[in-house]
Amino acid sequence: MQIQFLGTSSGTPTKSRNVSAIALIENQSRQWYLIDCGEGTQHQVLRSSLSLNSLAAIFITHLHGDHCYGLPGLLASASLSNRKDPLLIFGPAGLDDWLKLTISATDLHLEYEIIVLPLSTLTDYEIGQIQISTATLSHRISSYAYIFTNNLDEVKLDIGKLSHHKIPQGPLWGRIRSGADIELEGKTYKSVDFVHTEKTSRKIIICGDNDSPDLLTTQSAGCDVLVHEATFASDMAEQARKVGHCCADTIAGFARDAGIPNLVLTHFSARYHTQATGKGSIEALRHEAQQNYSGTLFLANDFDQFQLTKDGRLEQINDQSH
Ligand SMILES: [Zn+2]
Ligand SMILES: [Zn+2]
Repeated sequence: MQIQFLGTSSGTPTKSRNVSAIALIENQSRQWYLIDCGEGTQHQVLRSSLSLNSLAAIFITHLHGDHCYGLPGLLASASLSNRKDPLLIFGPAGLDDWLKLTISATDLHLEYEIIVLPLSTLTDYEIGQIQISTATLSHRISSYAYIFTNNLDEVKLDIGKLSHHKIPQGPLWGRIRSGADIELEGKTYKSVDFVHTEKTSRKIIICGDNDSPDLLTTQSAGCDVLVHEATFASDMAEQARKVGHCCADTIAGFARDAGIPNLVLTHFSARYHTQATGKGSIEALRHEAQQNYSGTLFLANDFDQFQLTKDGRLEQINDQSH
């Protein structure tokens, strides 16, 4: 699975960060899922290599505007760019009514069907190879995390047996791994005798706004990547509590205690700038997080793209080029 950030600012956009939106991309099919859709998300999609025609589903974490005001425009543009496949949209209660009202009041005619599903239907829901469930968070209004689990069948070679039969490493091993039988010095070797399938799974949790990371304790078991807001640094803890947000040190401490190997922070207050120094710098958040967490840590920028490898490492696969 890959993750691409399309918006990393909280509340309002800034010159370098749009409001919340994250793409989760399946490696093989290139199908993708959109988690949150702040205003202007369709412009961010245009600046990425993603297509609205391969968008499989939308997941809204909560109904604050910086997480959903981009939906009507994105849905309308998908229709104008000839999307025909139905689109699943998951979100909290109220989303369906708001969309219906907007669609009717603005005389919007979509050329494809939208299916808005309440979160109660989202218990181990499966799309493609990905299983999806939710966790309830704590914020000023109902807010949720989406948990994406990719179950993989990995074909493993029996190296000992291959060596025992003196089958040389190289293309022949590749053919056996791909299921082909091979011939070597007049003998036939069957692929099934040299391979077995191991089941692995990779889990990514993408959270809406949340002031209580402990709510994720149960779901954090086996989690490879946690994507969570870090709206403020700890000197703003009082303000964070008032508005239902999290500070960088708190979420980093949670990820450490939960044993989560990869943490990506996002949803930064517009008071933090990439170029600034001192308290107003995004680096202040990084420093606080690092003091509490020694795993792989990223502070997301718009358009940053990450790959979760089969063995559970999170690697950035592009530079910020926009
Ligand atoms: Zn927000
Ligand atoms: Zn919010």
